[in-house]
Amino acid sequence: MSNHDTMFINGKWVQAAGKETADVINPCNEEVIATVRMGNQEDVDRAVAAARAAFPSWAKTPVAQRAEYISKIAKAMAARQPEIGDTIAREMGMPQQLARMIQVGLPIAVLNSFIPIMNNYQFEYPMGRTMIVKEPIGVCGFITPWNYPMHQVIGKVAPALAAGCTMVLKPSQLAPLNSYLLAEIMEEVGLPAGVFNLVVGAGSKVGHALALHRDVDMISLTGSTGSGTLVAQAAAETIKRVTLELGGKSANVILDDADLQKAVSKGVFSCFLNSGQTCISLSRMLVPAAKQKEAAEIAKATVATMKMGDAFTEGVYLGPMVDAQQRESVQGYIKSGIQEGATLVIGGPEKPEGLEKGYFVKPTVFADVTPGMKIAQEEIFGPVLSIVPYKSEEEAVAIANDSVYGLSGCVWSADPERARGIARQIRTGQVFINDAIFDVDAPAGGYKMSGIGRERSKYGLEEYLEIKAIIGSGQ
Ligand code: NAD
Repeated sequence: MSNHDTMFINGKWVQAAGKETADVINPCNEEVIATVRMGNQEDVDRAVAAARAAFPSWAKTPVAQRAEYISKIAKAMAARQPEIGDTIAREMGMPQQLARMIQVGLPIAVLNSFIPIMNNYQFEYPMGRTMIVKEPIGVCGFITPWNYPMHQVIGKVAPALAAGCTMVLKPSQLAPLNSYLLAEIMEEVGLPAGVFNLVVGAGSKVGHALALHRDVDMISLTGSTGSGTLVAQAAAETIKRVTLELGGKSANVILDDADLQKAVSKGVFSCFLNSGQTCISLSRMLVPAAKQKEAAEIAKATVATMKMGDAFTEGVYLGPMVDAQQRESVQGYIKSGIQEGATLVIGGPEKPEGLEKGYFVKPTVFADVTPGMKIAQEEIFGPVLSIVPYKSEEEAVAIANDSVYGLSGCVWSADPERARGIARQIRTGQVFINDAIFDVDAPAGGYKMSGIGRERSKYGLEEYLEIKAIIGSGQ
C-alpha cells in the first residue's frame, strides 16, 4: 500500500494543497492499494503558473534537443517496463503480460514515433510572399482516462513536447499511480522544470479548473463523450483550443467472401481486449444474415477458450471491470439486451462462478441484434459483443454508420480492394482491413461524437501548433 500526498510541480514533488484523498482499488480483489491526495484550485494554479513560466524557453529549445528528451523518456520507460506494467495491472486490472506489452510497450513506441516526425517536420517555410511559421500553442491541460492510462497520457505528452508546449496532466483518479511513475521519469531525464506538471484530482474539480483556466491555451481530453461535452463547454469561456478523444461503437463488417472462422474469432478477441474497456473495441459484429448462425457458434467457441481472473494469474485474457459502478452498468446492458429480444449466445448478467471478489462480468455474446437496440447503439465498455445480421452490402454500410459515434471499424473480405471500398464509406477516423494490427504511425481520432482532432503521426503534432503568417519582405 502506498500513499501519495504530493504533486509534481515545477520540477519538484510538492505537498498537495488539496486536503481530500481518494483510494485506488485493485479491481481484481477490491483491495485498497494506495491512497492519493486530490488536488484543488490552488494546485492547478501553481502547476499552470509553472508551465507558463517554463514555456518561453522550452518553445525556443532546438527541435533536436527536444527530440533527445523524448528519446530519453522512452528509454527510461523501457527500463521500468515491468514495474509500470504491473502497476497498471494492479490499478485497473488488465492481465499482467498484456499490460506490460500493450500498456507500456505502446507508449514507448509512440514516444519514439515522434522523433523522425519532428526531425523531418517543416516548422517554417515560404508560401508566396509570406513566411509560414508553426509555433507551439502554449500551455496545455491534459485530462485522461483509466483504460489505457499511460498510452492516453503519452498520446498527448509526446506531441506536446515535440511541438515545444508545456503541460499540466490530470490523470484519471481511478488509475493515477502510473502517472507518478511518469513524473519520476521526467525528473530522472532532467526535463526542464515546469515543462511537465502533474496534478492528480477529480475531473469535476481539477479537470474542470484546467478547462476553465485563463492561462491554459489548449485542453485535450480522452474520455467519455459526456465529459467531452463538459470540457468543451468550460473551455469555450476562454476560446481555448479543444481536442477530444471520446467514445465509440465500432462496427466489424464481415463480408460474405471473408474467412468466417478467422474473422469472427479475431473479432471476438479484439472486442474483448481489456475486457471490452477499449475505445476502439469492435463491439458490433456485422455478418451476412445467412451466416449468422455459424458466426454465433464460432464466437461462442472462441469465448469458451478465454480465461478470466486475477491480473497476475498466468494465461488470463479477461480481467475485471474497473470498478463496481462500471460492473453494474455492463450488467445492466446485458439485461437490456435480453429484454429487447436479442439472442443470448453465451454469458449473461450473473456474476461469473468462482470469482466472488473483484468486479468481474461474464463475457457475453448476443446474436439477432437489431440496429435500434440499446446494445447496438450505446458504448457498453465491457465484454459484450452484439452480432447484427445484414442482407446486403449497402445495408451493412448503413448499419455501420447508424451510430452517433465514428471512432473505428474493420472490414473483412477475401478481396482487400473490396474491403477498402467499404472502408471508404464508413464514417470513422480509422478502419482496419482484415487482421491489420494497431499502427502507432497512423493518425487516430473520431468523426461525429467520437471527438475532435487527431492523435499520433504528424497530424497529432499539428494539433499542438499555431500557424503564423509573416507577410512581406519588409523592403
Ligand atoms: P471519463 O469521461 O469518466 O473520464 C475521463 C477523464 O475526464 C478523467 O480524468 C475524469 O476525471 C475527467 N473528467 C470527468 N468529468 C470531467 C469534467 N466535468 N471536467 C473535466 N474533466 C472531467 O472516462 P473514463 O471512464 O475514464 O474512460 C472511458 C471513456 O473514455 C470511454 O467512453 C472511452 O471510449 C473513452 N476513451 C476514448 C479514447 C479515444 O482515443 N477516443 C481512448 C480511451 C478511452
